[in-house]
Amino acid sequence: MKKLSFVLFITTLLFTSCTSPNPTKLVVYIVSDQAAPFILDKYDHLFTGGFRWLIDNGIVFNDAHHNHGNTSTAPGHFALSTGVFPGNGGIVENEWYDRRLKRSYYAVEDSTVSNLSGKEIIGRSYRYIKDSSLSDWMKQSNVNAKVVSLSGKDRSAVLFGGSNPDLVLWYDKKGAYSTSTYYDESLPSWVQDFNTRLNVKSYMDSTWNLVKSLEVYEQNTRIDNFKGEKIVSKKKRATPTLPLMLGDISLQSLLEGFYEYPQGDKSLFNLAYESIERLNLGEDNIPDLLFIGLSATDGVGHHFGPHSVEQLDNHLRLDSELMKMINYIENKVGSGNAIYVFSSDHGALELPESLKLKTIDAGRVSSQQEKKVFAQILNQIDLKIGPGKVVEYNNNFYFHNGLTDKEKKIASNTIKDLVFNIEGVRMALSPKEIMGLPKSKENTRLKNMIHPTRSPDIYVILKENWLWRSTPGTSHGSHYSYDSHIPLIFSKKGIKHSIQNKSVFSVDVSPTIAKYLGLKYPKDIDGRALNLNFDNN
Ligand SMILES: [Zn+2]
Repeated sequence: MKKLSFVLFITTLLFTSCTSPNPTKLVVYIVSDQAAPFILDKYDHLFTGGFRWLIDNGIVFNDAHHNHGNTSTAPGHFALSTGVFPGNGGIVENEWYDRRLKRSYYAVEDSTVSNLSGKEIIGRSYRYIKDSSLSDWMKQSNVNAKVVSLSGKDRSAVLFGGSNPDLVLWYDKKGAYSTSTYYDESLPSWVQDFNTRLNVKSYMDSTWNLVKSLEVYEQNTRIDNFKGEKIVSKKKRATPTLPLMLGDISLQSLLEGFYEYPQGDKSLFNLAYESIERLNLGEDNIPDLLFIGLSATDGVGHHFGPHSVEQLDNHLRLDSELMKMINYIENKVGSGNAIYVFSSDHGALELPESLKLKTIDAGRVSSQQEKKVFAQILNQIDLKIGPGKVVEYNNNFYFHNGLTDKEKKIASNTIKDLVFNIEGVRMALSPKEIMGLPKSKENTRLKNMIHPTRSPDIYVILKENWLWRSTPGTSHGSHYSYDSHIPLIFSKKGIKHSIQNKSVFSVDVSPTIAKYLGLKYPKDIDGRALNLNFDNN
């Protein structure tokens, strides 16, 4: 009898330690491009769907930032995926000037492969990314773990797919979801069928209407026809307002920019459902990863600004699509068997026109002034040290290899003498000068974007609330808080909602998931695992 109860005790112990009530079968990592916390907070009271669910069933970190400057898509996704600062990992921008190749270099380019469709001649892959990603850690910890990475943008999908994913798809800007030969020799037939059904051209007949009544928009944000918003319609006397007939943006713009509209994100959710079915994600107790890179928040934000009627409508639609997806997944993999992570690759600046109304010093750099001053700078450098030794790329200056210290000094001084003639410029600094800046949150971000060979020789940095964009719309990319502050929510059905006020960074997200799942991951990365007390919350 004594023996039997001992055996029972051991069996019970084994049973409880091997099968926790809710094993994590699927990690759903959602990165919504340009989802700024100030937008999510502003509309919090309007969310009744997926955003509400994620918050109510989640640990919300309200002081999460990218701890790097150059707050763009590739650096942001890289930090969220690998736990490494973009400077240390070399993903310093979406693209940069390569001194060796004497041309721009795209963050995920790979000339040894080709894309299965699209316009790019050079293919896309993870081949030249040196740091491993959460996807790799999942695969290394268990060969049977499955990884699916889907996004409107190739760089987002590639950076989350890691080096050995099961499926990586992005929108090819020609009407289809696609991949490169790095991942597959041909597109799976079910993806081809999906693309046929998607038929982006047929959206020419669709209208982007307000999803709620007009009062919701009137009561919660500014007027629709606001100065500084981009007019995407090619119709005569068009205004930057909803409803928008998608045919009016022209067939070419629709095919190229489909992923920048809510209809594009909706198609990505549909692609996710089909991927879950086809690859049987979450079918066993080995955790799988589904990455969903939403791009409409970025497209809508760039065109119309974060406080636009369009961005509010996009968020209301997203709220409902997220709820549909969560319901689908909870039903598919079992209630409480998935964890959800929601974050963003960067924030955004409010339209300068809107900031000026609040008497804030804000503005757009005049493209005319910029071109004139940059031309003067390069002319003078050419005259002083010889032609073609310095290149201006993306508003920064790169010195070609082989310049003497004296030539470098002459070039630097010429830039610094003239560049402040561009209204809005605050600093012109070398990487060394940036590394020597006093310690502060903003300066730390600047330091964490420096790479020994990929950084420019002189960074030209704008004042707060200024944009390198003379045309309507807005952007991101600075080291200021409006660009670095990101939402960060870890959710699981049934856990107690909590708000965490401590300062955390995007590089902490992947190690946090890895620690929670018990994965092996490199300990020399920049991010630190946070404690996710889901079960004892
Ligand atoms: Zn963007």
